[in-house]
Amino acid sequence: MAFEGLSERLQGAMTKIGRKGKITEADLKEMMREVRLALLEADVNFKVVKEFVKKVNERALGSDVLESLSPTQQVVKIVNEELTELMGGQQEPFQFSPKPPTVVMMVGLQGAGKTTTAGKLASFMKKKENKRPLLVAADVYRPAAINQLQTIGKQLDFPVYSLGTEANPVDIAKQAVEQAILDGRDLVIIDTAGRLHVDEVLMTELKNIKAAVNPTEILFTVDAMTGQDAVNVAQSFNEQLGITGVILTKLDGDTRGGAALSIRSVIGKPIKFTGQGEKLEDFEPFYPDRMASRILG
Ligand code: GDP
Repeated sequence: MAFEGLSERLQGAMTKIGRKGKITEADLKEMMREVRLALLEADVNFKVVKEFVKKVNERALGSDVLESLSPTQQVVKIVNEELTELMGGQQEPFQFSPKPPTVVMMVGLQGAGKTTTAGKLASFMKKKENKRPLLVAADVYRPAAINQLQTIGKQLDFPVYSLGTEANPVDIAKQAVEQAILDGRDLVIIDTAGRLHVDEVLMTELKNIKAAVNPTEILFTVDAMTGQDAVNVAQSFNEQLGITGVILTKLDGDTRGGAALSIRSVIGKPIKFTGQGEKLEDFEPFYPDRMASRILG
Protein backbone atom coordinates (compact mmCIF):
# COMPACT_ATOMS: atom_id res chain seq x y z
CA MET A 1 0.00 0.00 0.00
CA ALA A 2 1.06 3.59 -0.61
CA PHE A 3 3.02 5.34 2.13
CA GLU A 4 3.62 2.17 4.11
CA GLY A 5 7.29 2.90 4.73
CA LEU A 6 6.67 6.54 5.57
CA SER A 7 3.77 5.65 7.81
CA GLU A 8 5.78 3.09 9.72
CA ARG A 9 8.75 5.39 10.19
CA LEU A 10 6.68 8.38 11.26
CA GLN A 11 4.66 6.30 13.67
CA GLY A 12 7.92 4.82 14.95
CA ALA A 13 9.34 8.29 15.54
CA MET A 14 6.23 9.30 17.45
CA THR A 15 5.84 6.23 19.62
CA LYS A 16 9.51 6.01 20.52
CA ILE A 17 9.07 8.82 22.99
CA GLY A 18 5.32 8.38 23.28
CA ARG A 19 5.61 6.35 26.44
CA LYS A 20 7.25 9.21 28.25
CA GLY A 21 4.97 11.42 30.28
CA LYS A 22 7.17 14.44 29.81
CA ILE A 23 9.46 15.18 26.91
CA THR A 24 12.48 17.43 26.84
CA GLU A 25 13.78 19.63 24.10
CA ALA A 26 16.36 16.95 23.36
CA ASP A 27 13.59 14.35 22.95
CA LEU A 28 11.83 16.65 20.53
CA LYS A 29 15.03 17.14 18.59
CA GLU A 30 15.57 13.39 18.37
CA MET A 31 11.98 12.89 17.25
CA MET A 32 12.25 15.55 14.57
CA ARG A 33 15.48 13.99 13.34
CA GLU A 34 13.55 10.76 12.77
CA VAL A 35 10.69 12.62 11.09
CA ARG A 36 13.18 14.35 8.80
CA LEU A 37 14.79 11.05 7.83
CA ALA A 38 11.40 9.42 7.28
CA LEU A 39 10.35 12.20 4.91
CA LEU A 40 13.63 12.19 3.02
CA GLU A 41 13.46 8.44 2.67
CA ALA A 42 9.92 8.80 1.30
CA ASP A 43 11.48 10.95 -1.43
CA VAL A 44 9.99 14.23 -0.27
CA ASN A 45 11.79 17.25 -1.71
CA PHE A 46 14.60 18.24 0.68
CA LYS A 47 13.62 21.91 0.82
CA VAL A 48 10.08 20.89 1.66
CA VAL A 49 11.39 18.63 4.42
CA LYS A 50 13.57 21.37 5.85
CA GLU A 51 10.74 23.86 5.93
CA PHE A 52 8.37 21.29 7.40
CA VAL A 53 10.70 20.33 10.25
CA LYS A 54 11.36 23.99 10.98
CA LYS A 55 7.66 24.77 11.23
CA VAL A 56 6.88 21.82 13.49
CA ASN A 57 9.82 22.69 15.73
CA GLU A 58 8.81 26.32 16.00
CA ARG A 59 5.26 25.43 16.89
CA ALA A 60 6.30 22.79 19.41
CA LEU A 61 8.86 24.98 21.12
CA GLY A 62 6.92 28.22 20.81
CA SER A 63 3.90 27.02 22.72
CA ASP A 64 3.66 25.19 26.00
CA VAL A 65 3.66 21.82 24.31
CA LEU A 66 6.59 20.42 26.25
CA GLU A 67 4.99 21.53 29.53
CA SER A 68 1.62 20.07 28.67
CA LEU A 69 0.16 16.88 30.14
CA SER A 70 0.42 14.94 26.90
CA PRO A 71 3.34 16.44 25.00
CA THR A 72 3.73 13.59 22.52
CA GLN A 73 0.09 13.77 21.48
CA GLN A 74 0.47 17.51 21.04
CA VAL A 75 3.46 17.04 18.79
CA VAL A 76 1.63 14.36 16.80
CA LYS A 77 -1.24 16.82 16.40
CA ILE A 78 1.13 19.50 15.12
CA VAL A 79 2.76 17.06 12.70
CA ASN A 80 -0.68 16.03 11.47
CA GLU A 81 -1.77 19.64 10.94
CA GLU A 82 1.44 20.58 9.18
CA LEU A 83 1.27 17.50 6.92
CA THR A 84 -2.28 18.52 6.00
CA GLU A 85 -1.12 22.06 5.32
CA LEU A 86 1.78 20.76 3.22
CA MET A 87 -0.67 18.96 0.96
CA GLY A 88 -2.81 22.05 0.51
CA GLY A 89 -4.96 22.19 3.64
CA GLN A 90 -8.38 22.09 2.05
CA GLN A 91 -9.78 19.85 -0.66
CA GLU A 92 -9.62 21.93 -3.83
CA PRO A 93 -12.79 21.45 -5.85
CA PHE A 94 -12.96 20.86 -9.56
CA GLN A 95 -14.01 24.05 -11.36
CA PHE A 96 -16.88 24.15 -13.81
CA SER A 97 -17.21 26.77 -16.50
CA PRO A 98 -20.14 29.15 -15.93
CA LYS A 99 -20.86 28.68 -19.63
CA PRO A 100 -21.08 24.97 -20.51
CA PRO A 101 -19.44 22.91 -21.70
CA THR A 102 -16.62 22.78 -19.16
CA VAL A 103 -13.50 21.80 -21.07
CA VAL A 104 -10.80 19.72 -19.36
CA MET A 105 -7.38 18.92 -20.77
CA MET A 106 -5.70 15.83 -19.42
CA VAL A 107 -1.93 16.27 -19.71
CA GLY A 108 1.11 14.33 -18.56
CA LEU A 109 3.79 11.91 -19.63
CA GLN A 110 3.03 8.70 -21.45
CA GLY A 111 2.03 5.91 -19.10
CA ALA A 112 1.04 8.29 -16.29
CA GLY A 113 -2.55 7.13 -16.58
CA LYS A 114 -4.14 9.96 -18.59
CA THR A 115 -6.41 7.85 -20.74
CA THR A 116 -7.61 5.69 -17.86
CA THR A 117 -8.04 8.77 -15.69
CA ALA A 118 -10.03 10.60 -18.38
CA GLY A 119 -12.55 7.76 -18.10
CA LYS A 120 -12.45 7.77 -14.31
CA LEU A 121 -13.06 11.51 -14.20
CA ALA A 122 -15.96 11.24 -16.66
CA SER A 123 -17.55 8.47 -14.63
CA PHE A 124 -17.09 10.38 -11.37
CA MET A 125 -18.60 13.56 -12.84
CA LYS A 126 -21.62 11.70 -14.13
CA LYS A 127 -22.23 10.01 -10.78
CA LYS A 128 -21.53 12.97 -8.48
CA GLU A 129 -22.40 15.99 -10.59
CA ASN A 130 -24.88 14.55 -13.04
CA LYS A 131 -22.72 15.65 -15.97
CA ARG A 132 -22.96 14.45 -19.56
CA PRO A 133 -19.34 13.94 -20.60
CA LEU A 134 -17.82 13.73 -24.04
CA LEU A 135 -14.42 12.03 -24.19
CA VAL A 136 -12.02 13.28 -26.84
CA ALA A 137 -9.23 11.22 -28.40
CA ALA A 138 -6.55 13.80 -29.14
CA ASP A 139 -3.58 11.47 -28.66
CA VAL A 140 -3.08 10.71 -32.33
CA TYR A 141 0.47 9.39 -32.05
CA ARG A 142 -0.46 6.28 -30.20
CA PRO A 143 -3.30 4.52 -32.08
CA ALA A 144 -3.77 2.26 -29.06
CA ALA A 145 -4.71 5.32 -27.00
CA ILE A 146 -7.70 5.97 -29.27
CA ASN A 147 -8.85 2.36 -29.03
CA GLN A 148 -8.31 2.41 -25.28
CA LEU A 149 -10.47 5.54 -24.90
CA GLN A 150 -13.15 4.04 -27.15
CA THR A 151 -13.20 0.90 -25.03
CA ILE A 152 -13.55 3.02 -21.89
CA GLY A 153 -16.30 5.07 -23.54
CA LYS A 154 -18.20 1.92 -24.45
CA GLN A 155 -17.81 0.53 -20.96
CA LEU A 156 -19.18 3.71 -19.39
CA ASP A 157 -21.65 4.47 -22.15
CA PHE A 158 -20.12 7.87 -23.00
CA PRO A 159 -19.51 9.06 -26.55
CA VAL A 160 -15.90 9.34 -27.69
CA TYR A 161 -14.98 11.98 -30.24
CA SER A 162 -12.24 10.87 -32.61
CA LEU A 163 -11.03 11.86 -36.07
CA GLY A 164 -8.56 8.98 -36.23
CA THR A 165 -4.79 9.36 -36.30
CA GLU A 166 -4.45 11.59 -39.35
CA ALA A 167 -6.15 14.73 -38.02
CA ASN A 168 -4.45 17.56 -36.14
CA PRO A 169 -5.04 17.36 -32.35
CA VAL A 170 -5.89 21.07 -32.23
CA ASP A 171 -8.65 20.58 -34.84
CA ILE A 172 -9.88 17.48 -33.02
CA ALA A 173 -10.18 19.41 -29.77
CA LYS A 174 -11.90 22.39 -31.40
CA GLN A 175 -14.38 20.27 -33.33
CA ALA A 176 -15.08 18.13 -30.30
CA VAL A 177 -16.16 21.18 -28.32
CA GLU A 178 -18.45 22.25 -31.18
CA GLN A 179 -19.91 18.75 -31.28
CA ALA A 180 -20.46 18.81 -27.52
CA ILE A 181 -22.45 22.03 -27.84
CA LEU A 182 -24.60 20.53 -30.60
CA ASP A 183 -25.22 17.38 -28.56
CA GLY A 184 -25.85 19.10 -25.23
CA ARG A 185 -22.77 17.57 -23.63
CA ASP A 186 -21.70 19.77 -20.70
CA LEU A 187 -18.27 18.29 -19.95
CA VAL A 188 -15.54 17.76 -22.55
CA ILE A 189 -12.55 15.72 -21.41
CA ILE A 190 -9.65 15.84 -23.84
CA ASP A 191 -7.09 13.04 -23.66
CA THR A 192 -3.87 14.55 -25.04
CA ALA A 193 -0.65 12.89 -26.15
CA GLY A 194 2.18 12.18 -23.75
CA ARG A 195 5.84 11.50 -24.33
CA LEU A 196 8.39 9.59 -22.37
CA HIS A 197 10.04 12.91 -21.48
CA VAL A 198 8.96 16.52 -21.54
CA ASP A 199 9.72 17.83 -25.05
CA GLU A 200 9.16 21.03 -26.92
CA VAL A 201 7.01 19.60 -29.70
CA LEU A 202 4.60 18.11 -27.15
CA MET A 203 4.42 21.36 -25.19
CA THR A 204 3.78 23.43 -28.31
CA GLU A 205 0.94 21.14 -29.29
CA LEU A 206 -0.58 21.34 -25.81
CA LYS A 207 -0.28 25.14 -25.80
CA ASN A 208 -2.05 25.25 -29.16
CA ILE A 209 -4.87 23.06 -27.88
CA LYS A 210 -5.15 25.26 -24.81
CA ALA A 211 -5.36 28.41 -26.95
CA ALA A 212 -7.98 26.81 -29.20
CA VAL A 213 -10.41 25.51 -26.57
CA ASN A 214 -9.74 27.66 -23.49
CA PRO A 215 -10.03 24.86 -20.90
CA THR A 216 -11.33 25.54 -17.40
CA GLU A 217 -9.18 22.76 -16.00
CA ILE A 218 -5.77 21.57 -17.17
CA LEU A 219 -5.15 18.51 -15.05
CA PHE A 220 -1.65 17.17 -14.88
CA THR A 221 -1.81 13.42 -14.41
CA VAL A 222 1.17 11.85 -12.73
CA ASP A 223 2.18 8.43 -11.54
CA ALA A 224 2.75 8.76 -7.79
CA MET A 225 5.39 6.04 -7.94
CA THR A 226 7.78 8.31 -9.85
CA GLY A 227 8.60 10.24 -6.65
CA GLN A 228 10.87 13.29 -6.96
CA ASP A 229 10.74 13.15 -10.72
CA ALA A 230 6.98 13.62 -10.61
CA VAL A 231 7.55 17.00 -9.02
CA ASN A 232 10.07 18.09 -11.64
CA VAL A 233 7.80 17.04 -14.49
CA ALA A 234 4.83 18.78 -12.84
CA GLN A 235 6.93 21.91 -12.59
CA SER A 236 7.76 21.95 -16.30
CA PHE A 237 4.16 21.34 -17.30
CA ASN A 238 3.06 24.10 -14.98
CA GLU A 239 5.64 26.57 -16.26
CA GLN A 240 4.72 25.90 -19.87
CA LEU A 241 0.98 25.43 -19.63
CA GLY A 242 -0.24 26.83 -16.34
CA ILE A 243 -1.92 23.69 -15.02
CA THR A 244 -4.91 24.08 -12.71
CA GLY A 245 -4.43 20.92 -10.70
CA VAL A 246 -2.82 17.53 -10.32
CA ILE A 247 -4.21 14.02 -10.39
CA LEU A 248 -1.99 11.51 -8.63
CA THR A 249 -2.44 8.04 -10.06
CA LYS A 250 -1.38 4.60 -8.88
CA LEU A 251 -1.72 5.41 -5.21
CA ASP A 252 -2.63 1.75 -4.83
CA GLY A 253 0.99 0.86 -5.57
CA ASP A 254 3.73 1.00 -2.98
CA THR A 255 4.60 4.62 -3.62
CA ARG A 256 6.83 6.19 -1.04
CA GLY A 257 4.71 9.32 -0.96
CA GLY A 258 7.23 11.96 -1.97
CA ALA A 259 5.15 13.29 -4.84
CA ALA A 260 1.97 13.66 -2.81
CA LEU A 261 3.84 15.52 -0.13
CA SER A 262 5.99 17.79 -2.30
CA ILE A 263 3.94 18.80 -5.32
CA ARG A 264 1.69 21.35 -3.67
CA SER A 265 4.40 23.29 -1.94
CA VAL A 266 6.94 23.11 -4.78
CA ILE A 267 4.65 24.13 -7.66
CA GLY A 268 1.81 25.79 -5.78
CA LYS A 269 -0.93 23.82 -7.53
CA PRO A 270 -3.35 21.55 -5.71
CA ILE A 271 -3.77 17.81 -6.01
CA LYS A 272 -7.44 17.55 -6.92
CA PHE A 273 -7.98 13.81 -7.33
CA THR A 274 -6.27 10.48 -6.83
CA GLY A 275 -6.49 7.24 -8.77
CA GLN A 276 -6.06 4.05 -6.83
CA GLY A 277 -6.37 1.19 -9.24
CA GLU A 278 -7.01 0.04 -12.76
CA LYS A 279 -10.81 -0.06 -12.36
CA LEU A 280 -12.75 2.97 -13.50
CA GLU A 281 -14.32 3.51 -10.11
CA ASP A 282 -10.95 3.62 -8.30
CA PHE A 283 -10.95 7.41 -8.17
CA GLU A 284 -11.72 10.07 -5.59
CA PRO A 285 -11.15 13.71 -4.64
CA PHE A 286 -7.95 14.30 -2.70
CA TYR A 287 -8.42 15.30 0.93
CA PRO A 288 -5.17 16.51 2.52
CA ASP A 289 -6.43 15.95 6.08
CA ARG A 290 -7.50 12.36 5.39
CA MET A 291 -4.19 11.64 3.72
CA ALA A 292 -2.25 13.08 6.67
CA SER A 293 -4.25 10.97 9.12
CA ARG A 294 -3.74 7.90 6.97
CA ILE A 295 0.02 8.49 6.92
CA LEU A 296 0.19 8.98 10.68
CA GLY A 297 -2.08 5.95 11.30
P1 GDP B 1 -1.47 7.25 -20.49
O1 GDP B 1 -0.35 6.83 -21.39
O2 GDP B 1 -1.06 8.42 -19.64
O3 GDP B 1 -2.75 7.51 -21.21
O4 GDP B 1 -1.71 6.07 -19.45
P2 GDP B 1 -2.79 4.90 -19.43
O5 GDP B 1 -4.13 5.43 -19.04
O6 GDP B 1 -2.71 4.12 -20.69
O7 GDP B 1 -2.27 4.04 -18.19
C1 GDP B 1 -1.05 3.33 -18.20
C2 GDP B 1 -1.20 2.08 -17.36
O8 GDP B 1 -1.39 2.42 -16.00
C3 GDP B 1 -2.40 1.23 -17.76
O9 GDP B 1 -2.00 -0.13 -17.70
C4 GDP B 1 -3.44 1.55 -16.69
O10 GDP B 1 -4.32 0.47 -16.46
C5 GDP B 1 -2.55 1.79 -15.48
N1 GDP B 1 -3.17 2.68 -14.46
C6 GDP B 1 -3.73 3.90 -14.65
N2 GDP B 1 -4.13 4.43 -13.48
C7 GDP B 1 -3.84 3.51 -12.52
C8 GDP B 1 -3.99 3.48 -11.08
O11 GDP B 1 -4.49 4.41 -10.41
N3 GDP B 1 -3.53 2.36 -10.45
C9 GDP B 1 -2.95 1.32 -11.15
N4 GDP B 1 -2.53 0.27 -10.45
N5 GDP B 1 -2.79 1.34 -12.47
C10 GDP B 1 -3.22 2.40 -13.16
